[in-house]
Amino acid sequence: MKKSLLIVPLAMVVLSCNTKKEEETAKTDSQQVEEWLSQMTLEEKASIVVGNGMNMPGGDAPIGQSKDKVEGAAGSTFAVKHLGIPSLTLADGPAGLRISPTREGTDETFYATAFPIATLLASSWDTELVKEVGNAMGEEVKEYGVDILLAPGMNIHRNPLAGRNFEYYSEDPLVTGKMAAAMVNGIESNGVGTSIKHFVANNQETNRMQVNAVVGERALREIYLRGFEIAVKESQPWTVMSSYNKLNGKYTSQNRELLETILRDEWGFEGLVVTDWFAGDDAVEQMKAGNDLIMPGSQANRETIMKAVEEGNLSMEQLDENVKRILNIVHRSPVNEDYAYSNKPDLKQHAEVARRAASEGTILLKNDDGVLPLQTDGLKIAAFGNGSYEFVAGGTGSGDVNEAYVVSLVEGLSNAGIPVEPSLQEVYEAFIAEEKAKLPEKEFFFSLLPPINERPLQTSEVTDIASKTDIALVTLGRNSGEFQDRQAPGDYYLTDAELDMIDKVSKTYHAQGKKVVMLLNIGNVVETASWSDKVDALVLAWQGGQEAGNALTDVLTGKVNPSGKLTTTFGIKYEDNFSATDFPGVEVPGAEEVRMGPISMGKPSEAEYNDGIFVGYRYYQSNDLPVAYPFGYGLSYTTFGYSDFSLDKTEFQENISATITVTNTGDVAGKEVVQLYVSAPGESMEKPKMELKGFAKTKVLAPGESQTITISLNGKDLASFDADKNAWMVEAGDYTVKIGASILNIKDEKGFAVPSEIEVEKVNDVLHPESIMPES
Ligand code: BGC
Repeated sequence: MKKSLLIVPLAMVVLSCNTKKEEETAKTDSQQVEEWLSQMTLEEKASIVVGNGMNMPGGDAPIGQSKDKVEGAAGSTFAVKHLGIPSLTLADGPAGLRISPTREGTDETFYATAFPIATLLASSWDTELVKEVGNAMGEEVKEYGVDILLAPGMNIHRNPLAGRNFEYYSEDPLVTGKMAAAMVNGIESNGVGTSIKHFVANNQETNRMQVNAVVGERALREIYLRGFEIAVKESQPWTVMSSYNKLNGKYTSQNRELLETILRDEWGFEGLVVTDWFAGDDAVEQMKAGNDLIMPGSQANRETIMKAVEEGNLSMEQLDENVKRILNIVHRSPVNEDYAYSNKPDLKQHAEVARRAASEGTILLKNDDGVLPLQTDGLKIAAFGNGSYEFVAGGTGSGDVNEAYVVSLVEGLSNAGIPVEPSLQEVYEAFIAEEKAKLPEKEFFFSLLPPINERPLQTSEVTDIASKTDIALVTLGRNSGEFQDRQAPGDYYLTDAELDMIDKVSKTYHAQGKKVVMLLNIGNVVETASWSDKVDALVLAWQGGQEAGNALTDVLTGKVNPSGKLTTTFGIKYEDNFSATDFPGVEVPGAEEVRMGPISMGKPSEAEYNDGIFVGYRYYQSNDLPVAYPFGYGLSYTTFGYSDFSLDKTEFQENISATITVTNTGDVAGKEVVQLYVSAPGESMEKPKMELKGFAKTKVLAPGESQTITISLNGKDLASFDADKNAWMVEAGDYTVKIGASILNIKDEKGFAVPSEIEVEKVNDVLHPESIMPES
């Protein structure tokens, strides 16, 4: 009797709770949001636009109520419990979900998959694949109880030294925008959110919180904003993250022209804008600018906002607008649906996706005499370089993932039943262990430890190993990440020990008639021109995530035929890059240090983007500068023929389509990346010699098999931004469409005419270049 009495009321409670929740989620976004908003106090409104603070070692204790629902997540929003408004959990991004792998009080683990870095994914030129990776990543986000992944990163590779380039896709905005859209669509297909970042012109780590990027309107529109524009229009991400830097004199998070006029009015963005962590210096200006959520948030932000409303410096209408945008996202989030996350994402299946993706973005840069793929039967391999034994899965900082394991090259080979010379392996492993033990402790959790020096080689040792083996694999590793840019000496340029290793291995193996294969496990460009003739094959493995060694083995053995191509030019010298002259900017004379409590946030500085639209290949190519490996370049184990190129029109009105047939003319199956470049007349406006306007990847083509590909262009694709007219204009004249296997390997071309100038889109006259330097 007692028992049933107890059961009945409980069941009723459960039932009635469910019904209320179901009712709430059944309401349309706007009904529920209006209802929530109408019942919120000013304090609650000022709280929800400010995050719950950050649980940092040595930092302020979190202010909010929801303490680390998911340990290691980057932040959370304020819950208004009596109204049933839950707290959103936000976590990094972009190579996978970044959360703590272990938690106190449980033996359970919470590892996430380290997928390949963004630059590698872009190198696949395969948006379907990137979407699939996003889909897998999003499942981890959802199953670990997170609502928003702070990814993808989509700043432009303006300069090869930028420390976070690995988190970004390309030097080209079309590639960047298409990849980001695919990633957002993949992640969000799980019903979780993304945050495309860092909006905008955050192209360096040096002084990232105080630097003023001075960017002309044309470069801004065509290069730095364009990728974001494509991503917003093609994927409508839940959130956009404004950047740390100032753009033309103002913090991006405090710039209404950027966040309202461009992002919302012109592009139709419907989600919320969140600051980067601790960015900007004025919470009220952030609200007014349309930066709805301040992260990680502080009590001071909250008080400032409340005071501003009370004193009439911030209108309630504005604050309501900011709050509404947050509530809209809360309403559709997994936490609001009480999603019963499992903490058990399908890590096994995701590892397979990661492996496949890593092999698809691997680029074969050189393959003399068909040294690759390796005929591994009985082949005796020597693995040189610390990097062969210690693979870098991805960069450091917030873009790092806490994965369960990283497969190195030698482990990948061994998993495929291919041993490497054990005596050499032993020596390297002992050396690495010894050197690692000497490394200092990390100063704080995001610090990048210095790399261990390359193990010095003696000629006698190499001669001995060469006589015992048939081929040398040499790995070069690089790591970088948040807070600091790379250096030219010893990072972009190889160290003396690394050059010496390449030299000795090359001379010794070649003297014995044996080959050398070099593997680059790097996050962005390094110098290759001075030494690449010493090796027979060169494979750009990038940083391939936790399955990197397996994926690379797949490529080396021919299980996967490489089809990756460069989305960033490998120049000959660092100095060849246009931005080398003004990167990373100069300090503002006499400027005072900016502080946040005890922490220095740097001194104001300025980086003038004198390169304008001439970023990457747009510069090298327009100036006929020789490069080591051009944009769009990558080899295959097979060959492709291009035929039957045609354009559907000779005169452009609103669109034009190019059709081309690609045939596998070699002996093994493979995929080809087809690139479409346009040369514009360049008479009424200055134009790069060629610009990428479209691309496609074939399916796997069997030897002899063909595929016909069509790429269409519209007015916006052809247009350039005219800062005087504030419009995207297609100039009149003769254009050439060039179809190629890289920017320097054009297979066919055809012309069309634009009879008269076309104004494709009129936009607002905003974001003029503005310096913060004192007038001299
Ligand atoms: C990074 C962001 C990241 C955020 C939260 C910042 O330092 O710039 O990319 O999402 O931290 O971890």
